[in-house]
Amino acid sequence: MSREKIKTLRLILGDQLNAAHSWFKRKDDSVTYLMMELSQETDYVMHHVQKICGFFLAMRQFAARLRSAGHEVIYLRLDDKDNYPTLDENIAKIVKNENCERFEYIRPDEYRLDRQIRQLSKALPCPTEARDSEHFLTTRNDVGEFFKERREYRMEYFYRHMRKKYNILMDKDKPAGDRWNFDVENRSKYTGQVPLPEPLLFSNDVSDIHAMLDRCGTGRFGRIEPREFIWPVNRRQALRLLKYFLQNQLAYFGTYQDAMLTDAWLLFHSRLSFALNTKILHPREVIDRVIDEWRERSGEISLAQVEGFARQLLGWREYMRGMYWMLMPGLAKMNYFGHVRKLPRFYWTGKTKMNCMKRTIEQSLQYAYAHHIQRLMITGNFALLTGIDPDQVEAWYLGIYIDAVEWVEKPNTRGMSQFADGGLVASKPYVSTANYINSMSDYCRSCHYSFKKRHGENACPFNSLHWRFYDRHRRKLSGNPRVATMYRTWDRMDKTEKAHILEQAGRYLNNIERL
Ligand code: FAD
Ligand code: SF4
Repeated sequence: MSREKIKTLRLILGDQLNAAHSWFKRKDDSVTYLMMELSQETDYVMHHVQKICGFFLAMRQFAARLRSAGHEVIYLRLDDKDNYPTLDENIAKIVKNENCERFEYIRPDEYRLDRQIRQLSKALPCPTEARDSEHFLTTRNDVGEFFKERREYRMEYFYRHMRKKYNILMDKDKPAGDRWNFDVENRSKYTGQVPLPEPLLFSNDVSDIHAMLDRCGTGRFGRIEPREFIWPVNRRQALRLLKYFLQNQLAYFGTYQDAMLTDAWLLFHSRLSFALNTKILHPREVIDRVIDEWRERSGEISLAQVEGFARQLLGWREYMRGMYWMLMPGLAKMNYFGHVRKLPRFYWTGKTKMNCMKRTIEQSLQYAYAHHIQRLMITGNFALLTGIDPDQVEAWYLGIYIDAVEWVEKPNTRGMSQFADGGLVASKPYVSTANYINSMSDYCRSCHYSFKKRHGENACPFNSLHWRFYDRHRRKLSGNPRVATMYRTWDRMDKTEKAHILEQAGRYLNNIERL
């Protein structure tokens, strides 16, 4: 590398593409920014090809934007000869070769990277400084502080506190509409009541990156159209996607939030998670735009839709991040039920006769996306009912979704979805029979299995596995008032019926790969 001596080296990670960060407010000739495509990041789990291409393209565009604003940027591509596999090796080398006087970084949101960079900083021969990402509405420790004196870590309490703190959807000290929560109105099945908007897809060209992954032999899975990459990779596209959501989807976001449909992979969801998690968009600007839209079109958009959306960003997103920092590193090892089963192969292929699983997995392979209820109540539900090792479940979720970064993936997967934390995040396990899936989707209509049957030929696996799950974990769950009715129903069931159900579940588990 031949350039003027670097005074201050500033690291920008792939999920720190926040152009509004105070670092970039003014051009400083003594500062050089460093961005790297690293094999330590492509390889720590097996990733969907769209996730790798999306991050790299967004990073390249961010670097170009910084350069055009006059900033000095070192950008290491994955196939550059002088790019080492790890972050430490590259930084240590640059600091030494360029005789850097100072190293600065934005605090990573992942525990793994945070530890790595803190250790590296100690070993560097120059002073280092960590800065805030200026992205979240809370600090890492706010959720931990909030729950310090409380016995239960329920999101709802925290969410109300956030509404008051940021004066969002408040009428003085009361919630707008006199209610904190419109969830009951937000649980409709979609049966064509209103026209479905077409998803707004971009046509970004990632063929160069895709070819580079081939050259580097980078492991990956999933499908991609390299010249028609559909995700937003810069601020302009992210804002377009936000606008599209406001104009076309917000009015029904809450109502059909839990709905699932074979022929519509997105329904009324925003698809903003990638732009948010790479920090191209700020959660506060998204919430503000949503509220402005509601004010302008209050005749068309109900408060329930807007509250439903604000709850996701102001509540769940900030809460999950705070729970992650409160529970790490212990969270990474939690396995409350001691589950050890291998993740079935069909999670990687979608080749299963269970239509709900097939549709959700195939959609995830095609778009690197599934919405929340598909993640929670289809693939997550099945993994919990069948006792899959949470490490394997997590590796799958972390790899397959475009928006998967550990601070949000882990508390959602290990906590909310797999109850591996014993109920710190979720107040009850999110499991269900086919009844719920049938009530929220059209999947059961064209399934090989019968959603009505608990046992016998073609009985839906979710039914028997659901009861086996409760039966098996009675000691750990029966004291939970939120599942008391489950045990009452199970206990009232006829003995022979129960025996049939458990037998059926056993048969299904023994043949899990053939379901
Ligand atoms: P919308 O439905 O339009 O919601 C708007 C925004 O709210 C999302 O973009 C997201 O930023 C936020 N949000 C909604 N629900 C949650 C939640 N439970 N936790 C945090 N933020 C939320 N989300 C991720 O961003 N990354 C992950 O790796 C991730 N892994 C998950 C794993 C499991 C097992 C489950 C059950 C959920 C996971 N989620 C994750 C949460 C949620 O499923 C996604 O945020 C959402 O599906 C993203 O799609 P969207 O942008 O269309 O969301
Ligand atoms: Fe899924 Fe069972 Fe419905 Fe089939 S019948 S789609 S396996 S819930």
